[in-house]
Amino acid sequence: VPHHRIAPRSGQAGLKIKSVILVGSGKGGVGKSTVAASLALSLQQFGSRVGLMDADVYGPSVPQLLGLEGRPAITEAKRIEPIRCGDMPVMSMGFLVERDQAVIWRGPMLHGSINQFLGETEWGELDYLIIDMPPGTGDVALTLSQAVPIAGSVVVCTPQEVALLDAIKAISMFRKVNIPILGMVENMSGFLCPDNGKTYDIFGRGGARAKAEELDVPFLGGLPIDIGLRIAGDEGRLAEVMANDEQARAPMDKIARAV
Ligand code: ADP
Repeated sequence: VPHHRIAPRSGQAGLKIKSVILVGSGKGGVGKSTVAASLALSLQQFGSRVGLMDADVYGPSVPQLLGLEGRPAITEAKRIEPIRCGDMPVMSMGFLVERDQAVIWRGPMLHGSINQFLGETEWGELDYLIIDMPPGTGDVALTLSQAVPIAGSVVVCTPQEVALLDAIKAISMFRKVNIPILGMVENMSGFLCPDNGKTYDIFGRGGARAKAEELDVPFLGGLPIDIGLRIAGDEGRLAEVMANDEQARAPMDKIARAV
């Protein structure tokens, strides 16, 4: 990943982030937020300074996965103090709206809030800011690419053909706004059986690798269906599991190294 020192632009002065990485998918429910949060945690465990921004304003699930709640404080300088997961600053629309409250965004509001999250949050000095993107549309990618240089994007898909077609859309969307594709991640790539540690193919496996080759983008690796990971996400203990469970963490560490 090329390390960018982010040049101050209007409204974004003073951002000290070396690399901004977007995590996107063509559709929801493929595990994009899980991958974004685990990628951030893996990179942090390798010793980098990492922040996590949940730009999935339609369905912010990062607070849930990491078990974070509370309202961000506003500093004297009128900047947003992020909520922290250990040392990691995290910002999400989920901290600003009530749980289960539907948020209806019109274009300008969406752009405004994304820019505010990025530019007005007290991120501090970071090596990486991982951004969990809303699935599908190119709007937010365009807004972000106009605000800061983006080091690249990671596209998450499942092995099933339909999700792969959606992933192709996500890739062409990033390409349209000139955001480099760092690579594809195949999530739910086989089922990791807790009883014997073997991985079984349920939805098939390897589809993303083949598609990545065809589309001339790197394949970063696969993450099996892991019951421990699902329970961790539901209980808000993803950070804890990523810190302590070697088996759960290994595939993500491999992906983070490839990024
Ligand atoms: P998205 O952001 O694409 O909508 P999420 O990351 O919120 O998807 O994941 C959807 C659900 O699937 C969550 O309950 C999450 O815990 C679960 N999940 C995601 N990836 C895995 C995995 N590899 N193994 C087990 N459960 C997973």
